[in-house]
Amino acid sequence: MSERAAPAYCPYCGDEDLRPEEGSHRRWSCRACRRVFEIAFVGLLASRADQARDSASGS
Ligand SMILES: [Zn+2]
Repeated sequence: MSERAAPAYCPYCGDEDLRPEEGSHRRWSCRACRRVFEIAFVGLLASRADQARDSASGS
């Protein structure tokens, strides 16, 4: 996946002045609070079909 996720706001102070950090494509720095953070992909939400199946099996 070559597309990078670009944050719109700093998750710590809410400022919009974010810059990509060198060395890591997912690392960003905030010019307002000087924090450096990473954006990580965790996973996908379960589909509606999976949720319906799980609730049905529980009864
Ligand atoms: Zn910030």
